[in-house]
Amino acid sequence: MRIVLITLVFSSWGWAVDWSSLYGVDNLEAQRPRLHEDLDLVIAQEIQPFLTIEQAHFFANIQIDLPAVAQPNPNPFDFYSSQARHIVVPLLTIAFVEDMAQAYAWLWANRCSSQTVDEYLGMLRERAPGDFPEGRYPNPLVALHIPAGAMDDPAVARMAQRVRGTTLSFLLLHQLGHLSYVPSSQEKALKRDPVEAREERADGFALGVMKKNSETPAGLVMLIHGMMYLPASAPKGHPLTAARLKAIADYLDARVREFSQGRPDANLARSAIESLANHIRDARRFLSDTTGQQLWAEQGRKATVADLVPRRLPQSR
Ligand SMILES: [Zn+2]
Repeated sequence: MRIVLITLVFSSWGWAVDWSSLYGVDNLEAQRPRLHEDLDLVIAQEIQPFLTIEQAHFFANIQIDLPAVAQPNPNPFDFYSSQARHIVVPLLTIAFVEDMAQAYAWLWANRCSSQTVDEYLGMLRERAPGDFPEGRYPNPLVALHIPAGAMDDPAVARMAQRVRGTTLSFLLLHQLGHLSYVPSSQEKALKRDPVEAREERADGFALGVMKKNSETPAGLVMLIHGMMYLPASAPKGHPLTAARLKAIADYLDARVREFSQGRPDANLARSAIESLANHIRDARRFLSDTTGQQLWAEQGRKATVADLVPRRLPQSR
């Protein structure tokens, strides 16, 4: 009989794994101009037009640092501030978000299950780089068998851009929310700011800007799954708790109209927001589902790249 002695505590954070081999530092440096340009485009198109004058002024004085990876334990969802008025977004994070967005978009457009994405993240969490060819973790496009010409399909390209743009804008705005918050004198007197409250406030700040974009924040599910399955170590991470996920889902539900305003198909946009909120509630349930977590981890330890071949969903008519 085998006794499973693992206890996964998803609400805690800090996972001491180095994921830099997903791309390799040299390769990230070679891609620096393109990744930098991509981030600048997200800032110009998806953030700046929606800031208030005050927020825009604050943002203009923020420096964005783009190291290839952030030590220690480089994580594909690292984003943080190392000093006042600086936001660090490693190239590893931008590259991973872009590839995950493309993978999600291709799977979605080709009616394939996103289950393989969860299994891939399990593999990244449970396995060591040495378990893979050349001692490197496979990147999302390789692991999930996404064809080379995926972005030639306009539907894939559009969805990938939406997922990528909303993920990168959420993480920049969330961090801006941390930086721009000025505690009241009452809060200062308490000398203590619970992590959960801080994270919820930063999420609220990000969503408050994003709702003006009238765009479905399609990247949120990918980002939440990523941060839940591959938690970054302190001080680079943003711990996910059940209360935080509930607050995000409630925020979306309460503002379905604002998020879908001005969209050509308002009904479709509304149902997209509602389904997003439901997915976030599912993630919240997973946080307290010990059996589900153990099954997921077990699968991650066994899965190979060959197991992650895209799986068509049954036709629904
Ligand atoms: Zn945070």
